[in-house]
Amino acid sequence: MSNEAPILEVRNLQMYFPLETGLWSRIAGSKRVVKALDGVNLSVMEGETLGVVGESGCGKSTLARCIVRMYEPTGGEVLYRGKNVLKFGPKEMKEYRRKVQMIFQDPYSSLDPRTTIRNMLSEVLHLHRITSSKQQLEEKMEGLMISVGLDPAQLGRFPHEFSGGQRQRLCVARALAVEPELIIADESVSALDVSIQAQTLNLFEELQKKLGLTMVFISHDLSVVEHISTRVAVMYLGKAVEVSESTELFEDPEHPYTQALISAVPVPDPDVKTNEIILKGDVPTAANIPPGCRFHPRCQSAMPVCSEVEPVLLESRKDHLVACHLIHPVEAPPKPVAPQQVK
Ligand code: SF4
Repeated sequence: MSNEAPILEVRNLQMYFPLETGLWSRIAGSKRVVKALDGVNLSVMEGETLGVVGESGCGKSTLARCIVRMYEPTGGEVLYRGKNVLKFGPKEMKEYRRKVQMIFQDPYSSLDPRTTIRNMLSEVLHLHRITSSKQQLEEKMEGLMISVGLDPAQLGRFPHEFSGGQRQRLCVARALAVEPELIIADESVSALDVSIQAQTLNLFEELQKKLGLTMVFISHDLSVVEHISTRVAVMYLGKAVEVSESTELFEDPEHPYTQALISAVPVPDPDVKTNEIILKGDVPTAANIPPGCRFHPRCQSAMPVCSEVEPVLLESRKDHLVACHLIHPVEAPPKPVAPQQVK
């Protein structure tokens, strides 16, 4: 990682959702919450692809939605080029929404079925005043179609006339229309079949190199994340537990959770023997996060201290951060002594 300031940084980001809503819970004063994000710290450097990976329910998508302020975080900061996005007014937010674009998982529901691609793109271009004449508008739309590998002659078609992979390309074209600096792709190849996934990933890579884009690529699929990312952040139950350069993370993971995830990635060679680490139990609910290390009920290496002291995300090697007591040992806090034992 370079010494330059990050383009995007999240500091101690929290997103708590009330568990019970409605009149009765308000009368009863219920304060139970689901801690979807519980103090996430991450940074994204200009021009890189940060992969964010973790099991379903770990808070990856909530993180993306908090960054673009689809959700208003409960606490913490989102800094874009050093400025706190959570304090932006409407004018700054409009500019921020142009610079930071999101591509969603489902290309079917992301496009308005009643609008042609021409109308969809021209609406976005008009809204952000990207083009100033009819000719410029037409050239821009044709250029966008070509850049995502689609025929400009298809601009007059409706979304249902395209395949799933083509629709995701259209979502990419719409995101690129406003000349963004950062793209957040949330599970954006998960709904596609494998061959289309590969084509879409290659498209992301090509565009990133050509346009110098920065990307946050969110996925539950480690193979996809390994393929596309420069650095990877592993999330578990609302927190980042390991962050490292991609090759180093996949070759030498330090956190027991990352080790288990990587050991479960299928290898396409039947002769290669893998030592899959089977995690015990299910992912605990974010409404009832275990004390200490939130991974301790499932960790093979858990020690007594792990259920009492929460590990902090700290550097273990250069640019390699991990939150685990095995790597950064701490002492357990002294146990309180019962009054009758005190002499
Ligand atoms: Fe396992 Fe303890 Fe490390 Fe948590 S802190 S991952 S429980 S060894």
